[in-house]
Amino acid sequence: MKRMILGKTGIEAARLGFGGIPIQRVSETQAIEAVVYAIEKGMDFIDTSRMYTTSETRIGKALKEVNKKVAVATKSFNRSADGIQKDVEISLKELQLEYIDLYQCHGISTEEDYRLVTAPGGAVSGLLKAKEQGLIGHIGVTGHNLDVLEKIVEDGLFETIMICFSFLEPAAKEKVIPKALEKQIGIIAMKPFSGGVIEAPEAALKWVLSYPDILVIAGVEEKKLIDQNWRVFQGGYEMTAEENQAVDRISKQFDKNFCRRCDYCLPCPAEIPIQFVMGARSFIKRMGPGILQTPMFAKMWEKAANCTECGNCMERCPYDLPIPEMIKENINYMKQFMK
Ligand code: SF4
Ligand code: SF4
Repeated sequence: MKRMILGKTGIEAARLGFGGIPIQRVSETQAIEAVVYAIEKGMDFIDTSRMYTTSETRIGKALKEVNKKVAVATKSFNRSADGIQKDVEISLKELQLEYIDLYQCHGISTEEDYRLVTAPGGAVSGLLKAKEQGLIGHIGVTGHNLDVLEKIVEDGLFETIMICFSFLEPAAKEKVIPKALEKQIGIIAMKPFSGGVIEAPEAALKWVLSYPDILVIAGVEEKKLIDQNWRVFQGGYEMTAEENQAVDRISKQFDKNFCRRCDYCLPCPAEIPIQFVMGARSFIKRMGPGILQTPMFAKMWEKAANCTECGNCMERCPYDLPIPEMIKENINYMKQFMK
């Protein structure tokens, strides 16, 4: 129950792994200490990304300080074979490794993303080459759109799949998880706290861990939070009455103002990457305001300002979110960090 093998990859790890997003927002010393502490506690699966600024470098430095076997997973948004092969090389250098256990195509959220990475010359062929060269062990995929993920699972090209899974985002338990289990595709659950939105972390973690055969990655940068998560992980996953109440209360509270990052609202005529703009607060909370200075985010804010309030996106959002209004609120919120 507490350890598992990730699908057919043969990667064996504790079911609670370490998510490498929040270590970007603290000092390098604190970040390295957090990773070392988590590994010493027993977490032996670490996930990061080329996109998480300093995360790979810091994890690389931490790995040099421990003498334990840890499975490392990272990912890239690059959609071409050449591009992702270059990223594999950079990841190896940043992580100070000769081999990465799992390399994932990051954020495959549309059919077009999926088509691009699986086409000749696409990222998957680049990763297969890296696998042949012994640079990576396995190839996985991450994404937020369950329709696209359902197709990906059906096709079975990837060995692992990373999904958002929490009591605020439970839909994968019907749509993707059963099929992935049936096909022995390793399942990694990200965002057990819905990107920091859920303020009942113990209940949130119990909820996800109560689904067997899923490896949960929790992003943490403080030792006391690592202790807290590890304590929950080691215990039973039965909810107390208070925890059940918290789950009900938070689910109701966020029902109509939480973006599930599914991308069903796209395309936007103004080319606004809606889910990223909607998730601005969560990005800043998890990665620190420095993330706003990266070219990808800078471009996103420029586009967000072009919202015409046409309402096309609202017709497609299954959660009836007031998208243009939320975009405006987020732009205003962001201004304080842009001076
Ligand atoms: S309301 Fe704004 S975000 Fe929505 S589709 Fe129109 S321009 Fe895009
Ligand atoms: S705004 Fe709605 S449709 Fe668009 S990503 Fe968020 S939850 Fe999905």
